[in-house]
Amino acid sequence: MGDRRPVSVDVRNHGQASPESVLRPEVLGWKAYHVPDSAGMLKLDAMENPFGMEASVRQILADVLSNAPINRYPDAGADVLRSLMKRTLEIPESAEILLGNGSDELIQILCQAVARPGAVVLGVEPSFVMYRISAAIAGAHYVGVPLSANFAIDESALFQAIEEHRPALIFIAYPNNPTGNLFDDDLIRRVVERAPGLVVVDEAYHAFAGKSWMPQVCAWPNLLVMRTLSKLGLAGLRLGYLVGRPEWIDQLDKVRLPYNINVLTQLAAKVSLENLGVLLGQASRIVQQRGELMTALSSIPGVHVFPSEANFVTFRVSGAVAVFEALRENRILIKCLHGAHPLLADCLRVTVGSADENLMFLDALRRITSLEVSRHGG
Ligand code: PMP
Repeated sequence: MGDRRPVSVDVRNHGQASPESVLRPEVLGWKAYHVPDSAGMLKLDAMENPFGMEASVRQILADVLSNAPINRYPDAGADVLRSLMKRTLEIPESAEILLGNGSDELIQILCQAVARPGAVVLGVEPSFVMYRISAAIAGAHYVGVPLSANFAIDESALFQAIEEHRPALIFIAYPNNPTGNLFDDDLIRRVVERAPGLVVVDEAYHAFAGKSWMPQVCAWPNLLVMRTLSKLGLAGLRLGYLVGRPEWIDQLDKVRLPYNINVLTQLAAKVSLENLGVLLGQASRIVQQRGELMTALSSIPGVHVFPSEANFVTFRVSGAVAVFEALRENRILIKCLHGAHPLLADCLRVTVGSADENLMFLDALRRITSLEVSRHGG
């Protein structure tokens, strides 16, 4: 039978396993991803759609979900849903689709798939934090290239990093989170052309941006476009999709767990896409609200608003941490970006809500910033 004792486990602790003796040391060193408690708060921190599903669609959902065969495993390939997505979501005929439990899971699948020994995943900074986190979990090396002060891509720094690190995977969020801007198209094109590996354009906020790489996704051998239904109004369903040439999608599909999209999500997404007009209508209301919110924010003394093509607005205000805390005391939850990256000093991010929600937020912010100014004698 031979010796069955696992040789690599530290058994000094009298044979008792502990996290320290078993887990990867880097796991022990990480902080858990923190989701703040939002019970009873006006929730403007997570880029959710404020409107909720329309009553008529809710009724259809209730009927469909009440008959869902939840005693059965889901359709492993989600074939019905994927073909509906192809018809409704402007996905080119020659492209294939990989579905994820949110685009978070697609980021994880991509990182796991490229993580050969020494593989590098590259992104710009600040950007979506899961690129770094998923690369680390997969055991890949993450390189973050700082943006310029106006949140544009620093072209020479990016190309230098690409030459130096030869990344297997580059993530570009378009629009970027948490800065809200779209990056220059010509620059992205040159990145795709010069990258030695995959380039994933993450269009999580596409519904609010009016610009997309989706129609051209198959034009380059190394480009993939990723989107999610989360910001469109279905964050609770957890459905993201990655689109590209079949030769990539077929390989990445091997990394996906077989039943990652559950029965209820498949059915609810199908009903939602059959009523896509409702969600797109809500997205255009959000875009209109974004304009009003940005104008109102810009008129508050001491507030600097950054351009946004997403469903959130990032702004700078002195004493941002105190402003964030004061908003929280007023039961309004936004996102404090201060401390996340040097370029985000004194920055806060607010999700565009309904007209009423935005007014509540603006009223509170006006009160708080005028108090801050008088307290500091400004
Ligand atoms: N990409 C970007 C740029 C994001 O900001 C987010 C969510 N904050 C995601 C992907 C993940 O979205 P989800 O997992 O809900 O699809």
